[in-house]
Amino acid sequence: MAGLYVHIPFCKKRCLYCDFFSTTLLERRKKYVEAVLKEIAERKNEVEEIKTIYLGGGTPSTLDAADIRRILEAVGTDKAEEITMELNPGDATQEYLQAIRKAGINRLSIGIQSFQDDLLQLIGRRHNAAQAIEAVKMAQEAGFDNISIDLMYALPTQSMSQWKVDIETALELKIQHISCYGLMYEEGTVLTKRVEAGELTAIDEDEENAMYDYLCKRLKEAGFVHYEVSNFAIPGYEAKHNSRYWNGTPYVGIGAGAHSYVGNIRSWNKDDLEAYLSGKAQREQEVLSETDIYNERIMLGLRTNKGVERSAIKKDVKAHIEAGLLRETEDGHIVATQQGLHILNRIIEDLMI
Ligand code: SF4
Repeated sequence: MAGLYVHIPFCKKRCLYCDFFSTTLLERRKKYVEAVLKEIAERKNEVEEIKTIYLGGGTPSTLDAADIRRILEAVGTDKAEEITMELNPGDATQEYLQAIRKAGINRLSIGIQSFQDDLLQLIGRRHNAAQAIEAVKMAQEAGFDNISIDLMYALPTQSMSQWKVDIETALELKIQHISCYGLMYEEGTVLTKRVEAGELTAIDEDEENAMYDYLCKRLKEAGFVHYEVSNFAIPGYEAKHNSRYWNGTPYVGIGAGAHSYVGNIRSWNKDDLEAYLSGKAQREQEVLSETDIYNERIMLGLRTNKGVERSAIKKDVKAHIEAGLLRETEDGHIVATQQGLHILNRIIEDLMI
């Protein structure tokens, strides 16, 4: 049984750090929904008995609740245990939240990023801190009892005390899941250009690691399980859909730019909105070799708290264990230590073949 990802590539405004595939051409939304419905119908055999559904973007909450319902109805949600939708706090109204819940959404991922107005402005988000808090409260009032929020750290000018306030504010909201990402300076984004021009200073690696360590420690104290590098959940609320990406279980991607992974085949729709709308977008695919599959297993497995079976790792992990970067669990899995998480990408590269 597969998971389904539906990409909604519309944003009311572009955030200054973002290099995701999205567009502000909101007038294309209606046509896009029709194209998504057409793709679902064409791939009906692939979207049968879907267990998890994730509407991501872009900003899915730029769509009317009626269109969210049409998409879910076209997929069929009888077997779906988890139906997540990303929500921008600026789009939250009681009426909208009630309507999407009625349409079948049972988990929200709210893109809060920060509870500090100065930082939200700096990174070009369209909501403010009060709206973020209000969005969570409204969602809870509308009956959502499985809410995740996204937070960002290592933002230019962000202080440790601001970060601590963000974490405490999140905890006070009594949500079930938190995803936290250190800011990445993607090539060509406005924020990257401002740092390159010397207008802003990126915070240094030690400070970033200190923010990450504080986050892990504080959320653990508050009862969250740190089950993936960037993801924390109250036990039982780990994201079922996202876990597919990390565990290598199949998923189908619908919409422009969406990726699918079934068997040893990865396929994707090109991230070309006009081609997708005209129905001319061709799906591309690659067949993963044994080496690709091994490398993916290392890359994704080491990001999780389950790690990778030692017997499945083809390189010697002894040096990393002695350096305190990896450790072996009682059931013979290799997992990253807190120190190892700081340089996880380098460790993964060492263990790939
Ligand atoms: S809302 Fe999300 S997808 Fe849209 S520009 Fe901002 S970060 Fe990118």
